[in-house]
Amino acid sequence: MIPNMKDVDMVSLSLDSSFKFDCHKGLSCFTKCCSNIDILLTPYDIVRLKNRLGMLSGLFLLNYTYIDIDEKTSHPFVFLKMADDKERKCPFVSEEGCTVYSDRPANCRYYPVGQASLKKMNEQLKIPYTEEFYFFVREDHCKGFQEDRDWTIRSWREDQEAALYDDINRPWKEILFRRNLPGNELDEKKQKAFYMVSYDIDRFRDFVFKSGFLDKFEVPDSLLERIQRDEIELLHFAFSYLKYILMMEETLKLKGRSS
Ligand code: SF4
Ligand code: SF4
Repeated sequence: MIPNMKDVDMVSLSLDSSFKFDCHKGLSCFTKCCSNIDILLTPYDIVRLKNRLGMLSGLFLLNYTYIDIDEKTSHPFVFLKMADDKERKCPFVSEEGCTVYSDRPANCRYYPVGQASLKKMNEQLKIPYTEEFYFFVREDHCKGFQEDRDWTIRSWREDQEAALYDDINRPWKEILFRRNLPGNELDEKKQKAFYMVSYDIDRFRDFVFKSGFLDKFEVPDSLLERIQRDEIELLHFAFSYLKYILMMEETLKLKGRSS
């Protein structure tokens, strides 16, 4: 979710920060947060949603998303397409709530908490690391902050299963973070590759198994077997390949080339 900056509480929160909040059908604001919003989708969001809807990633992307090319980095980002009318409702909202609740995107899980990352340096080891931090999004319509249920950011993340999404998406976010430097812009060919590898997991699977990919790269049989049967392993392999094509790390070995 890209929050409106006027609603962002600029106080940076840690995992132990506490707050009171509850969200339930009895509130007058129920589902008001599911309209007129920009929900940024991560690779794992798309895997969960396309499986929930029983469709291939390509069809999901076509029917439910739009692309926005980030001006600064030239990375293509994917957003959930809202209804094309004044209300701009999420396609998955109903009077009863979210119809894809157990597979809702990470940003919906976190709300009303927002999450961001900072690049830091471990001065002792002289290695950069990413520190995640949190903040509140306090929109006028959201009555949940007036409820009397205690949370910490940690217990909220666990309850919403947001930590699982973070764990799976973290290597992808690290790639974005490392590339967020002037001069790292992607040309059109790389933008298309970035899009397929990050979001169109079923096309990426075909690319690995049905194109000349395996004639070109050495991939151990055990890894091939894992990525064939497990979509999360495939996603991690996709992130590795992304690092390779963005020339960040030699994560893959060309056939016939000694190391
Ligand atoms: S995916 Fe579900 S929780 Fe997220 S905005 Fe849509 S209806 Fe609301
Ligand atoms: S309490 Fe906040 S998060 Fe819950 S339905 Fe209302 S607006 Fe949405």
